[in-house]
Amino acid sequence: MAEIFVAIDGPAGSGKSSISKQAARRLDYSYLDTGAAYRALAWWVLERGLSASDSAAIVDALPDWDYSIGIDPDAYVVMVGETDVTDAVREPRVSGVVSSVARVPEIREHVNAMFRDIMRSAPTAGIIVEGRDITTVVAPDAPVRILLTASEEVRMARRSAELTTEKATDVADQLRKRDAADSRVVDFMTASDGVVTVDSTTLNFDQTVDAVLDVIAQQTARTSHG
Ligand code: C5P
Repeated sequence: MAEIFVAIDGPAGSGKSSISKQAARRLDYSYLDTGAAYRALAWWVLERGLSASDSAAIVDALPDWDYSIGIDPDAYVVMVGETDVTDAVREPRVSGVVSSVARVPEIREHVNAMFRDIMRSAPTAGIIVEGRDITTVVAPDAPVRILLTASEEVRMARRSAELTTEKATDVADQLRKRDAADSRVVDFMTASDGVVTVDSTTLNFDQTVDAVLDVIAQQTARTSHG
């Protein structure tokens, strides 16, 4: 049973996933990527030949969606039924429709309940959960809540370095569109009360991990001292 919840939100390309995964490794915590659930659902919707904009049909089909994710930072795997979709959910065709799946309130409630179950049953002392609405909706009472940001320019550059098969301008366009669509549903650009902002614009990977670990150490010390 995990007792320490660390919630990390931020926009696409802020480095949330890789930073959270590494911070979890350093602390021997579990790591939950919540975006993977929305991506896996979008993948499954496409696979079934449903339209990503037909929210009623998707909500109806939800009970048949068999989703699981590895929360050991060294055994990250995303599964739908027996199919390993870890790589497939990163494909541009999935990124292109994930926002329309994620904007449906019934879908968000369904996955949020799943996230809370996963968090509670994690076999480690703590779990780092990253996404867009973890600090505000999924775990607003988490003792550690962080907003990880970076300038738009830096986020675009990092993401296009990751996706070597696509043109940098296409990646930037897609990222901007997705952030615009997503921010109509949840606000992940401004830190809500009590959420600590870590701006990684001028930090490299290790420095950002250290900054996040510092916040975790400070906030957990504060909570345990009442
Ligand atoms: O983090 P990632 O880019 O993998 O997230 C994929 C998509 O899932 C986002 O663009 C957003 O539409 C959705 N998402 C969300 N709430 C979260 C995490 C992801 O709406 N907590």
